[in-house]
Amino acid sequence: MELIENLVLVFVAGLVTALATGIGALPFFFVDEFSDRWNVGLWGIASGIMVTVSLFGLVDEGLAYASGGFPTLMVGGLLAGVALVTVSDRVLDGVDLGDVGHHDHDHDATDVQTDGAGHDHDEVALEAKAFAEGDLKKLVLILGILTVHSFPEGVAVGVSFAELGLDGGLSILGFSVPLLAVFMTIAISIHNVPEGTAIAIPMQAMGLSNWRMVGAAVFSSLPQPIGAVIAFAFVSWAEAFLPFGFGFAAGAMVYLVATEFIPEALETGADLPNRGYPQLLAGLAAGVISMIPVLYV
Ligand SMILES: [Zn+2]
Repeated sequence: MELIENLVLVFVAGLVTALATGIGALPFFFVDEFSDRWNVGLWGIASGIMVTVSLFGLVDEGLAYASGGFPTLMVGGLLAGVALVTVSDRVLDGVDLGDVGHHDHDHDATDVQTDGAGHDHDEVALEAKAFAEGDLKKLVLILGILTVHSFPEGVAVGVSFAELGLDGGLSILGFSVPLLAVFMTIAISIHNVPEGTAIAIPMQAMGLSNWRMVGAAVFSSLPQPIGAVIAFAFVSWAEAFLPFGFGFAAGAMVYLVATEFIPEALETGADLPNRGYPQLLAGLAAGVISMIPVLYV
């Protein structure tokens, strides 16, 4: 009975972190469309936050668990994270994602035709389709990678509850909750907010509804309550997995930023003065700076 109560509490903690991801999509309820300038800045902010969290949050944490010596497991995790992004990218290149995006763009094609653009119509329609597929691929890739990378973070939450019920914890809802668990739940929740924004950005570009963006953001973190419960139930096994898990989450995020976020920012900013570099750099700096208090409290 007590075990079940404990598992429920750990699940709820994981669920809180997942819901926090949805908060990241909320700004889009207040602004219908961002200018290119703002979009470049937003990609920059999301990149700055994700890289900072990866290097100074996850990698740092992974090293702490590696306890001296060469952190073989964590480096293995980093490489596995990079491999995950590379392989997913290739696989998605081979998959025809066109069917999902077709509807909207059939409309576009009809519009072009009624404009009387005659022979240009096919070309324009093709271009629209390629754009939709590129966007959709990016969306699936970002959503997929962030969903997978959430699992080890859930494991971290679960492990942090290892000493649940022992003396010296904070009294919450009648449980004696370890301080570490409180910090970890808050840290992962905060870290999830910008990730929710990062997912919402491509969805916004594709014209999806605000609630779908919130739903996708929360979905990407659903592995967290699941990972937390599994890790709590098998805590000594999970603890051994953590250096690899942290490395994996960090490797996947940094590589995703380098291969998707930054190129997308540069592409969006191509027509801006100075190619949008000022906005990108300002966004990156804002992202990094905003995470400093979170990491060093
Ligand atoms: Zn994360």
